[in-house]
Amino acid sequence: MHAVPLWKKLLKQNFSSIEKLMDFLELDSENRDKVLLKSSFILNLPIRLAEKIEKNSLDDPIGRQFIPLKEENKVGEDCKEDPVNDCTFQLSPKLLQKYQSRSLLITTSACAMHCRYCFRRNYPYETSKSDFDFEIESIKKSFSQKEVILSGGDPLSLSNEKLRGLLKELESLESIQIIRFHTRFPIGIPERIDDELIEILGGLSKKVVFILHTNHPKELDDELKLRLSHLLEKKITLLNQTVLLKGVNDSVNILEELSWKLISLGVLPYYLHQLDPVKGGSHFKVTEEKGKEIISELKKRVPGYLVPKFVREIPGELSKTIIL
Ligand SMILES: *Cc1c(COP(=O)(O)O)cnc(C)c1O
Ligand code: SF4
Repeated sequence: MHAVPLWKKLLKQNFSSIEKLMDFLELDSENRDKVLLKSSFILNLPIRLAEKIEKNSLDDPIGRQFIPLKEENKVGEDCKEDPVNDCTFQLSPKLLQKYQSRSLLITTSACAMHCRYCFRRNYPYETSKSDFDFEIESIKKSFSQKEVILSGGDPLSLSNEKLRGLLKELESLESIQIIRFHTRFPIGIPERIDDELIEILGGLSKKVVFILHTNHPKELDDELKLRLSHLLEKKITLLNQTVLLKGVNDSVNILEELSWKLISLGVLPYYLHQLDPVKGGSHFKVTEEKGKEIISELKKRVPGYLVPKFVREIPGELSKTIIL
């Protein structure tokens, strides 16, 4: 029997009760009135992030991303359950082949946290089958695939044991050069990057790329920096994607600070996403015009390599569409 790893213990301590979170955040009755008490997309928030939220405030940039608000019930006119048309590209419930040379594996539905604006908040995750035999066989048969993207949910929700097995199978696919992780897990629980994971990733013969997801400089801290430095030691490339969110990061000052902070952790900004119009997320919408203004100003303030590509996902297009 393995001892339960620290990250799993921390994950178990996540806030999932709205009442407890409201008490912890010391919300007054006026603020409590705005909180959504019941939602099919349940509260899920690591203590580390909850501790960074300003008390008795619903305007905190971290709080806004995770506290369910009654505003979610306002449905924007262009909102969809599946805004990026994921369902059209399913080769199986766990394999999306949307773009040339890249296959996306939905590894798990579990996340370390639930972000209220998530475009997969309504995604019909397959839960019955836990192996990836069919998916790996499909990638193998298509030959042309050079990269496998591990997504979810969050691939780091899988145990080290599961990951080890999956990565071993992916390693055996000849055409695959790159294994990419799309993960937000370390932002909430940096302890996920433990010695065993480093050992597993460090031993791979393929190039490994991590695309982190952070939206605000407050999400980054010294513990995360330490853990990421172990990935850098293993020559893993670290990039970041951000979603442009009203009341969280829709300002040039914040995105500037985020870029500087990311590079100090060895992470390059990659994408700034225009929000996908998902049901329940309309109160996060920033206009494309405002996004363009922010990026234009950001370009003047930071080196070119610290300016993320401002993109949006247009269903049916063969790549992300660059807005600016
Ligand atoms: C964006 C996206 C990709 C490709 O990502 P790039 O970083 O543009 O290569 C692949 N699959 C899905 C489902 C995506 O949304
Ligand atoms: S961690 Fe990623 S996949 Fe999970 S809820 Fe947040 S945005 Fe969605």
